[in-house]
Amino acid sequence: MKAVVAADHDVAVVRCTDYGSQTCRAALETAIGAVGGLDWVLPGMRIAVKANLVRAMKPEAAATTHPALLCELTKLLTARGASVVIGDSPGGLFNPARMSHVYDVTGLRACEKLGAELNTDCSQKTAQVPEARVAKTIDYTAWLDGVDAIIDFCKLKTHAQMGMSCAVKNMFGAVPGTMKPEYHYRYPDPADFANAIVDIFERFRPRLCLCDAVTGMEGNGPTMGTPRDFGMLLASRSGYELDLLAAELLGYEPAQIPTVEASIKRGLCPESAASLNVFGEPDDFRQDGVERLQAQSTMTQLLGDGNAISRLGNRVVKSLIDPFPKLDPTLCTGCGGCARMCPAKVITMKKGRPRIDRRHCIHCFCCQEFCPQGAMKAGRRAVARLLGGK
Ligand code: SF4
Ligand code: SF4
Repeated sequence: MKAVVAADHDVAVVRCTDYGSQTCRAALETAIGAVGGLDWVLPGMRIAVKANLVRAMKPEAAATTHPALLCELTKLLTARGASVVIGDSPGGLFNPARMSHVYDVTGLRACEKLGAELNTDCSQKTAQVPEARVAKTIDYTAWLDGVDAIIDFCKLKTHAQMGMSCAVKNMFGAVPGTMKPEYHYRYPDPADFANAIVDIFERFRPRLCLCDAVTGMEGNGPTMGTPRDFGMLLASRSGYELDLLAAELLGYEPAQIPTVEASIKRGLCPESAASLNVFGEPDDFRQDGVERLQAQSTMTQLLGDGNAISRLGNRVVKSLIDPFPKLDPTLCTGCGGCARMCPAKVITMKKGRPRIDRRHCIHCFCCQEFCPQGAMKAGRRAVARLLGGK
């Protein structure tokens, strides 16, 4: 690849307005070139590309990393003599038959035709990580072992529990889909869950992070929101710095995204995107009026960190301000998927509709993320909206 720009930037944000192969190729070359290029890719290397394949959804739904970008990345890597394996572990069953269906629907067969392997190794491993902040035991999908490098290729989306899904959240896909509910149950506090995600990201340390923000998602993300043309591609050697800039471009304060806040507190990235050496002019990419989701920890912080209310963990106040899963009965088909997925087992089906025992709900939003109809949404009470949530 030609060195088109100085390669020492922390993060690159470049214009990419469509998924045409030439547009994607040019954007990838410029963005990657600005953050160090691909000279580290050597012949014979095996490189895992961790895409966001949250569910078997078509590229137009804007929930998954677009195949056109993955195709162009495959070409760039194979031209250097590397072999490429692309994969993810969506929520739910993780087996070859399911993954084959996911690859069919998400359009990734196009990458296979270019020589990429689509991962079908669905074996799992467990790592002990004593240095981790929260997740000292990490269950993970074994395909990420035995590669020379990992490239994290995420999708920019709103996210009911974490506010935003970007590079750091994408590595939660290293956890087998069948195990993900357990992680939500292990770490019901959003700050703990965010730190667990950072621990997982640290465990795998992607060599390069890329973000498909050509068409991303706003509103009821990360699966059933509204596609929105953001018109950009981001790249960085640091997922934390990429997320910091992405959050700012969507209009979030860093503290409003728990994974960004956790990475700042852990000294993994600066406190503000203003401290980043950015290739591209961020002001050209700021997104006005994005329908954002407010992460629940942020709502609690609005009352003050460590004040009397927080210390007492006032359940009444929390129940007033925290977002909660809310059913739209006009969209619900009564399939029961949310009841099967709920890690806390607090959903029961009654008369063909899910009923949630809110006293024991851990606000993980798995029911919202995986409802195939978009019938479960992130609800907020008027008082929470008045305090600043959407
Ligand atoms: S998964 Fe969605 S459609 Fe199915 S029962 Fe739950 S809310 Fe209804
Ligand atoms: S009801 Fe929904 S948000 Fe609550 S614990 Fe179950 S899956 Fe999570």
